[in-house]
Amino acid sequence: MARAERVCRERGLRLTPIRRKALEALHADHKPVGAYDLADRISPPGGRRLAPISVYRALDFLVEQGFVHRLSSRNAYVACLHGHGADEVVAFLICEACGGVDEDSSPAMRKAVAAIAQGRQFTPSHQVVEIVGRCDHCRSAGSHD
Ligand SMILES: [Zn+2]
Ligand SMILES: [Zn+2]
Repeated sequence: MARAERVCRERGLRLTPIRRKALEALHADHKPVGAYDLADRISPPGGRRLAPISVYRALDFLVEQGFVHRLSSRNAYVACLHGHGADEVVAFLICEACGGVDEDSSPAMRKAVAAIAQGRQFTPSHQVVEIVGRCDHCRSAGSHD
């Protein structure tokens, strides 16, 4: 959160209450969260549910600023804990068993993806590699498959 506040200040952007709440909620959970689910979580208790469009706008902002990653395959969002820029290539390891998500990046992967895009004269706007499978914890915990 401190990083997001600092970055917003540096870039002259406003971390509005809804953006802040959305980011806090995503930080509180290391699993991907859908926009509707997020709307439920950050709506005031007993109050009116936030309009999904407002939540989507807040999420768009957070993704653009690199605070949050969007997982296309799940149509869900997850907070970035590593300070990746929005233009960085990030690999997500998504566990099918527990729903946990881990992320990693490497210079070699960045280079390889850039070379593929350049080879096709393609300008990427969203560079996420999704690897679905089983995390180390679930693999060792469950013998049944
Ligand atoms: Zn990240
Ligand atoms: Zn797992």
